[in-house]
Amino acid sequence: MFNIDKETFKKDYEEKFIEMHGKDLHEGTDYNKYEALASLTRDYVVKMWINTNKKYNFTGEKQVYYFSMEFLLGRLLGNALINLGIKDICREALSDFNINLDSLEELEEDQGLGNGGLGRLAACFLDSMASLNIPGHGCGIRYKYGFFQQKIVNGKQIETSDYWLKNANVWEIKKSDKAQVVRFGGEVTTINEDGHLRFNHTGYEAILAVPYDIPVIGYENEVVNTLRLWSAEPLYDEFDFSSFSRGDYLKAIEYKNSIEAISQVLYPDDSFYEGKILRLKQQYFFVSAGIQSIIRHFKAYGKGTLKDLDEKIAIHINDTHPTLAIPELMRILMDEEGYGWNEAWRITSNTISYTNHTILAEALEKWPVEMFEKLLPRIYMIVEEINRRFCQELWNKYIGQWDKISKMSIIADGYVRMAHLAIVGSYSVNGVAKLHTEILKKQEMSDFYYFNPTKFNNKTNGITHRRWLMGANPELTDFLKETIGSGFIKHPTDMEAFAAYAMDKSVQERLHQIKLSNKKKLAEYIKINQGISVNPDSLFDVQVKRIHAYKRQTLNCLRIMDLYRRLIENPNLDIVPRTFIFAGKAAPGYYLAKNTIELINAVANKINNDPKVNEKIKIVFMHNYRVSLAETIIPAADLSEQISTTTKEASGTSNMKFMMNGAVTIATLDGANIEIRDEVGDENIIIFGLTEREVLDYYQKGGYSATDMINGDYRIKQVTDDIVNGFYCGDKERFRAVYEHLVTYNDEFFVLKDFHSYLKAQDKVDNLYRDFSKWQSMCAVNIAHSGIFSSDRTIQEYATGIWGSGFLYKNL
Ligand SMILES: *Cc1c(COP(=O)(O)O)cnc(C)c1O
Repeated sequence: MFNIDKETFKKDYEEKFIEMHGKDLHEGTDYNKYEALASLTRDYVVKMWINTNKKYNFTGEKQVYYFSMEFLLGRLLGNALINLGIKDICREALSDFNINLDSLEELEEDQGLGNGGLGRLAACFLDSMASLNIPGHGCGIRYKYGFFQQKIVNGKQIETSDYWLKNANVWEIKKSDKAQVVRFGGEVTTINEDGHLRFNHTGYEAILAVPYDIPVIGYENEVVNTLRLWSAEPLYDEFDFSSFSRGDYLKAIEYKNSIEAISQVLYPDDSFYEGKILRLKQQYFFVSAGIQSIIRHFKAYGKGTLKDLDEKIAIHINDTHPTLAIPELMRILMDEEGYGWNEAWRITSNTISYTNHTILAEALEKWPVEMFEKLLPRIYMIVEEINRRFCQELWNKYIGQWDKISKMSIIADGYVRMAHLAIVGSYSVNGVAKLHTEILKKQEMSDFYYFNPTKFNNKTNGITHRRWLMGANPELTDFLKETIGSGFIKHPTDMEAFAAYAMDKSVQERLHQIKLSNKKKLAEYIKINQGISVNPDSLFDVQVKRIHAYKRQTLNCLRIMDLYRRLIENPNLDIVPRTFIFAGKAAPGYYLAKNTIELINAVANKINNDPKVNEKIKIVFMHNYRVSLAETIIPAADLSEQISTTTKEASGTSNMKFMMNGAVTIATLDGANIEIRDEVGDENIIIFGLTEREVLDYYQKGGYSATDMINGDYRIKQVTDDIVNGFYCGDKERFRAVYEHLVTYNDEFFVLKDFHSYLKAQDKVDNLYRDFSKWQSMCAVNIAHSGIFSSDRTIQEYATGIWGSGFLYKNL
């Protein structure tokens, strides 16, 4: 493993600083000091990176490529220092210069190239692949603007652009020599050459895809894998300017901009699909560049021929966004490498595997045929042929069952259904938690499951404990090391040993102290950034995630509104003092979600300014939720709110982050919450709400009436009235959208149905929290059983269960 002593580090750092900034260390700004540290760290990494690549090329071992439209990496410096194993040395060395490492780390801009859970999962997977010695690389888009920055102005979300590249990004290296050409539009003509069909693509627009490589550092194993992000550029920079030469300088600029637009911005939609042509362009752009570069590299260094590609390469697609990998690989094998259909199909469908992330109907991608065909004429022909052959197979098996066949068809009703293409063209389809996979198999994709049951499997999501425990919560990490030894760092399930200490009085006291210390830090952050004073001795009740109707921030908000009413009626009401913390972004076009943010902020404003209740409750809506903010909030949480409508949250991953940091979960039996319950036992989690059966019955048979819920229950009536009666805001119309969704449109997420069950569960939380020993033991049990939710476990399952054996686990 990489080793460096403090004195060498100090010397390297000072030299680096002077070389970079042309002045002495003591003259530098804090940002100068961060830049020098990041740059030095990168230098250490680069040598290992080269060696890792040399080794892969030499051994020819199987390479995994994880294709994802999003990688939500967050900050990279702290994680790099941890994985290099030099964080302590670095901290001490810097403190000799009177520099505080933590404050330098905070100067780094988040790399926010993702919306939420899906993009963060991709980032956790990269960390785990490198740490488990798996040659696994990321492939995605280098968006110039990441996920938008959120401001809250007058209680409303305001979006501003995330120009994260305003300072030089020390973590990326541009590889111009590895650029690829991607083609859009044009015509395809078919030529018959001695009985062989050839496809001639002409009149296309060619775009240059330029890769930027980011190192992905394994934990203390000298492995450095690659995240390759593609950026769009005009193909012939100089040339094209001259081709517009007849004085049309502006046209030339416009042309350049239209090309660069492809990698300009991340679509800020989570679990929602919009059929925008630019998005389809983005998808083909990075997939085509990625597959071309894999093939080029394999031909240069791979052991064997393209016939063996499926044994040497695994390509994984994160949701349907990179599904065009299937027809693109077919195209290259047939049109460029001369393989026939059958051989190309065998190679392709044995190389590509697919993860489904959602069953929300509004999130399933389908592209209008007309748009698809025009933008990608050759790819469309291949998709048509894949579909023709697939439907043929279906006809042979399901004779005369036209309904079933058209239901399963890849192309139907004028659309290309990406999930169907992904299932048909891959050898493995996995869901992301047990319940989700069961629903996929038995409900959403049941026709495909019964057609090909062995293709389907479950891989419950995970999170990297290196970022979410060691990075985010060093105090807890040190305490775990002290108590059960350091083995859990490489074998996270060893944390189970901590369960034996759950009833130990001194362990409970330490856990409490660590939590309190994290809560004080968060309280200080809240004071500085949002001007609100919160009491670290209150219970920190936290719901942080994208704002979405199915995640039910409204349920949480209504419960607070109800509590406020009860406190007004009875100021002596005996409750545990709480600080309610929310954070999350709403998609800019998602009106209901934005209105929910307004409601939460209005409730917060009213309650926080009511001295009669402020000893007992406070509400904070924290601005601009992102990875680095999650790292500050989660270690300070006492209670983790995971309250989605059962069946709607495929897995969730913040539920795992909270548990690993010793929060207790209040949850519906949805997604991975079920598996968390199975790990910690019913007595260490608080479960409420409709069951899967009840929810599915409502969807199938109907019978839910929000109006009946209101008319039959004065408390529900009161809180729903309070949304629109001016109690929280003089403008009665302000939260109309939330009210109408809940009442007029008979809320498909059953907030009011789960309301009383949720209130009861919250009363239970109060009672448990009052019993210090009981609560601390619950925290300890949650920490102890969180190891299985490390993404190391998930990635081992992908490696052995999907990508194939042949991986060496030197760490295990
Ligand atoms: C983990 C994470 C998420 C996912 O949260 P869920 O509660 O699982 O939806 C979203 N955003 C950020 C910044 C995260 O770190």
